[in-house]
Amino acid sequence: MKLAFNEGTTWESATLEQNLEYCEKHGYDYIEIRAIDQLVDYLKDNTLDDLKEYFDSHKLKPLSLNALCFFNNRTKEDEEKIIEEFKEYLEICKKINCEYIAVVPSNIDVTEKGKTLVAEVNASCVRVLTHLSDLAEPYGVKIALEFIGIPENTVNTFAQAYSIVKEIDRDNVGLVYDTFQFTGMGSRLEDVTEETADKLFIFHINDVDGLPVGQMRDTDRVWPGHGVIDLEAHLSKLKQLNYDFVASVELFRPEYYQMDPEEVIKKAKETTLEVLEKYHYSRV
Ligand code: ZN
Repeated sequence: MKLAFNEGTTWESATLEQNLEYCEKHGYDYIEIRAIDQLVDYLKDNTLDDLKEYFDSHKLKPLSLNALCFFNNRTKEDEEKIIEEFKEYLEICKKINCEYIAVVPSNIDVTEKGKTLVAEVNASCVRVLTHLSDLAEPYGVKIALEFIGIPENTVNTFAQAYSIVKEIDRDNVGLVYDTFQFTGMGSRLEDVTEETADKLFIFHINDVDGLPVGQMRDTDRVWPGHGVIDLEAHLSKLKQLNYDFVASVELFRPEYYQMDPEEVIKKAKETTLEVLEKYHYSRV
């Protein structure tokens, strides 16, 4: 399993330049770049050529752009803006040789109707993602749909997200499997079957404080192995499905934003590797 760092983990404490430096220094294989803010800040003083040059001359590589947010059940006008944003992301991916774009479904407060029936949510996701899949195809970029494990998100379980990518049925559309999102709305491990294996594009690893289903939020995430998620069960399942690509540590805890970002990057690596090694995976 390769090791990746998601920039959400040092969102308030580090710049992209710092994350690149510390991730390279501490031996991460990949970084997930926050295209919505940390990359925007980086580009105020640097160019995409600089970023490309960085990746060309270091071991660390880009894994994904995070994230195209709130793409489904929007007004026509909002949807057009999102598609334009996606096109910009494709150009960035091409420039820096980044294979994945993570996409996040809408929270109900940004949707056209507010509370929306599952059938309408899924239909909108299928329609928009199929269009994005067409756009991404010539770039060789893959789209990773990340279901969000909170009640106010429109796609909030593994089973629902899988049903969407199954219906789309494109090689370049799959899932982010995030242990926090999975736990947040009580997704079921029995829904992660052999059939779903090909659609597991990216694995986000983390843990969470012991709150009831529906009350966990990103800010409750903790170091892998320090919370209540049964990471052994998740990793056993992934092993059974022969998933052996990447584990990307992704935390959003305010206390960690108060820490020195290099310490966070070190500790995130240590705690992640400890869990991976304990439960069936070795670093490759
Ligand atoms: Zn995630």
